[in-house]
Amino acid sequence: MTDARTPLIAGNWKMNGVAAGGAELAAAVSAGANDVSAELLVCPPTVLIAPVGAALRDGVALGAQDCHFAQSGAHTGDISAEMLADAGCAYVIVGHSERRADHGETSGDVCAKAMAAYRAGLRAVICVGETEAERDAGKTLEVITAQLNGSVPSAATAENTVVAYEPVWAIGTGRTPTNDEAQAVHAHIRAALSASHGAAVSDGMRLLYGGSMKPENAQGLLAQPDIDGGLIGGASLKAEDFLAIAASCP
Ligand code: PEP
Repeated sequence: MTDARTPLIAGNWKMNGVAAGGAELAAAVSAGANDVSAELLVCPPTVLIAPVGAALRDGVALGAQDCHFAQSGAHTGDISAEMLADAGCAYVIVGHSERRADHGETSGDVCAKAMAAYRAGLRAVICVGETEAERDAGKTLEVITAQLNGSVPSAATAENTVVAYEPVWAIGTGRTPTNDEAQAVHAHIRAALSASHGAAVSDGMRLLYGGSMKPENAQGLLAQPDIDGGLIGGASLKAEDFLAIAASCP
C-alpha cells in the first residue's frame, strides 16, 4: 500500500441474506465507517441492492456482484450495468471465479462486462486467480497474466478499475498464500498492467487481495506494498469482522 492509493475494503456478500438482515448489516457497517480510513464497499445480492442502499450512510459505497454486457434487451434474468447505476451502485464485481466456474464466463466475457460497467459510469472490480492445480503446476503467474490480458479492457484506468487477485484455492477455505507469496503475485499484476496500460495507470490502480481474508490475517497482507485492500467474502457478513479488517489497513 502506498499513500497514493486509498485502500479499498470490499465485501462480497455472495448469495446470502434477506432484506431485513441485509439492511441491518449495512447499517452496522455504516456505523463504523468513520472510524476507518479505508474506503468501504458492500456488494449485496442484486435483490438486496435497494434495501441495503437505503440503509447505507455516507462513506460506504454500494456495488453489485455481476452485470450483463448489454444495455438492455432479451436477456432473461440478467441485469445491465445501467440498471445497477440507476439503483445507486458505484461499483460492480466482474469475473469472480465462482461466475467463471459456475457460468462458464471467459475472460472475453469479463472484459465485455467491464466495458459495460464503464459505459454506465460504474467502476469495475475485475477478479483474477489461479486454481490449486494451476498453482501446483507452477503456472500461477502465467494464468494470471493471461486472465489480465483477456479481462482488463484497454480503456481501463486507475479510476474506473480495481483488480482483485483471488486464488481460487483460498476462497472460502481458510487457506491463504503467505504474505510474501501474495505480494509477489500483486507485484506481477502491477508489472503486467504497466506493460499493457502504462506505468501511470498501473501505479494508480488499486489491487485487492481476496481469499479467506479475516481480522487475524488482514494486517500482514494489507501491509504489503502492492496490496491496496481486500475483497472479502465470508468475513464481510459480520460487520465487526469487516470493520476490523478495514481497521488493519496501514
Ligand atoms: C470471495 O469469494 O470473493 C472471497 C474472497 O471469499 P472468502 O473471503 O470467503 O474466501
